[in-house]
Amino acid sequence: MIFYFKKLAKKLKLTHFVYGLIMHKDNIKKIAEERIALLFRLADNEFEKHPERSKRYVEIARKIGMKAKVSLADHKKKFCRKCGNYLKHGKNTRVRISCSNIVQTCKVCNNISRYKITKHKE
Ligand SMILES: [Zn+2]
Repeated sequence: MIFYFKKLAKKLKLTHFVYGLIMHKDNIKKIAEERIALLFRLADNEFEKHPERSKRYVEIARKIGMKAKVSLADHKKKFCRKCGNYLKHGKNTRVRISCSNIVQTCKVCNNISRYKITKHKE
């Protein structure tokens, strides 16, 4: 059925419209969020043995986020924005607190990122 619609839409040059009906925007965002969460979990698991793989997973997750317009706010402390490496506490990152800010330094490229201390939601 869907295949038939796709074929028809191609004939009428309405592909964008029909694809929009099949894959609703909210659906796409939900799928993207799931995949991003999965990729970060994989990156965490693979970091010890294959750090280059975890870097690649972060790269893919960021690309998915950009394509589906999903923010990576929940994961922003887990990777370096400059070199794209996956950051693991005590391994390739240094975390300090100064002036009510969290200061995170990437040990690979020495990039510093600061976050405000917020209350943990429960
Ligand atoms: Zn870095």
